[in-house]
Amino acid sequence: MAEIIELNQSGATKSPCKLHPQSMCPAFGSLRILTRLEGSHPVMATDTGCLYGLTFVTHFYGASKSILAPQLGTAELMSGQVVEGTRAAIEVAGKEPGVKLIPVVSLCVAETAGMPEELLPKKSGDADVVLVRVPAYAIHSHPEAKDIAVAALLNRLAEREGPVVDKSVVLLGEVFPADPLLIDALLRRMGVSETIFLPGRSIEDFRRAGRAAAMAPLHPFYKESMNIARSIGMSIAGGAPVGISGTYAWIKSIGSILGLDEALVQQVADEERAKATAIVAAQPLSGTVMVTGYEGTELAYARMLVEAGAHVPYVSTSIGQDPLVLPDEMWLKAHGTKEVIYRKALEEDVAAIDRYTPDLVFGTTPLASVAKERGIPAMYFTNQLASRPFFLSSGMAATIEFVAEVLTKGDRYRFMQEFFAD
Ligand code: SF4
Repeated sequence: MAEIIELNQSGATKSPCKLHPQSMCPAFGSLRILTRLEGSHPVMATDTGCLYGLTFVTHFYGASKSILAPQLGTAELMSGQVVEGTRAAIEVAGKEPGVKLIPVVSLCVAETAGMPEELLPKKSGDADVVLVRVPAYAIHSHPEAKDIAVAALLNRLAEREGPVVDKSVVLLGEVFPADPLLIDALLRRMGVSETIFLPGRSIEDFRRAGRAAAMAPLHPFYKESMNIARSIGMSIAGGAPVGISGTYAWIKSIGSILGLDEALVQQVADEERAKATAIVAAQPLSGTVMVTGYEGTELAYARMLVEAGAHVPYVSTSIGQDPLVLPDEMWLKAHGTKEVIYRKALEEDVAAIDRYTPDLVFGTTPLASVAKERGIPAMYFTNQLASRPFFLSSGMAATIEFVAEVLTKGDRYRFMQEFFAD
């Protein structure tokens, strides 16, 4: 691959250029969440090019739901019709049968042109109109755009009146469908009265979330949503129920924040730790694995793989460095990981393959292709790893079993490389 030079004010450097897109438009993260809500009819304020691309990926990955948008080409932008056009689209959305929520997703062009919130209606018909500002050029990754959408909905919809529901918790993060059931069952055994998983399909859950006692982000990029939760008076539980030590610490943290029965919490934490330890003992991993992706969860996966016995020298992610990910970064660096790269570029990941000669690569599709060309087993992180159960000991079992199996496939990949080389 050709080396790409980044030019800055002090001259040319040899660092990888991060100015070109490294994944699809980050705004997709917001749209995915907003279109999946039942009763939501999104309006997108953007120009025609963004509208075409984002509608396509949203239908492919999100929900089969039409998205309304004003016609915003050069002529409309020049004549200042961004707000008028958006108001007209909101009016049409409000007339749709059954619509309860109209998220107005304001993207790069509309944000640059100006979208004053006070000029938009608060309601259209029976539907709440919620402005979601997603200047994707400034948000950088689609996980962080998910956070922007959740925060906007919580800010507007979360109930702030009425009593707090004692021992209730909001869990934040898009996860494999079985994970919420298992986490809920475990928390109820500990004495938790109610769990609310966001973001899901229910608008009502965003309202109920305002009266929960605590919030537990399962993924480390929900900082805006956490700020809203703090402003409502909710406690925050850090970490996530991932791997042996992570799950143990998370259970104890939830118990402490919600004031649950200490002995019962300790019993559940001990049981989960014993199960996870037994899983690793039955199927320890060995080999060097590279974990890269753009989901924002890469550090947590790497930590689990290291606990299971793998050597993970290099981890990269699309999200920025943040106190929420710092505990995982410190843990990884204390357990043999040499590099943790935030806002990564494909070129950095490719160079890391050469540096560490891994036995298995998890990454984006372009990186997986590079690894396969070199005869290294490689998988698309999003479709193969992030689409399995992950949390608690049961999620650990599913993930480790999959990784262990792929690690045995090295001969087959080398055979394919030799076969096609001829
Ligand atoms: S201009 Fe902004 S919203 Fe449009 S595709 Fe590019 S990053 Fe996404």
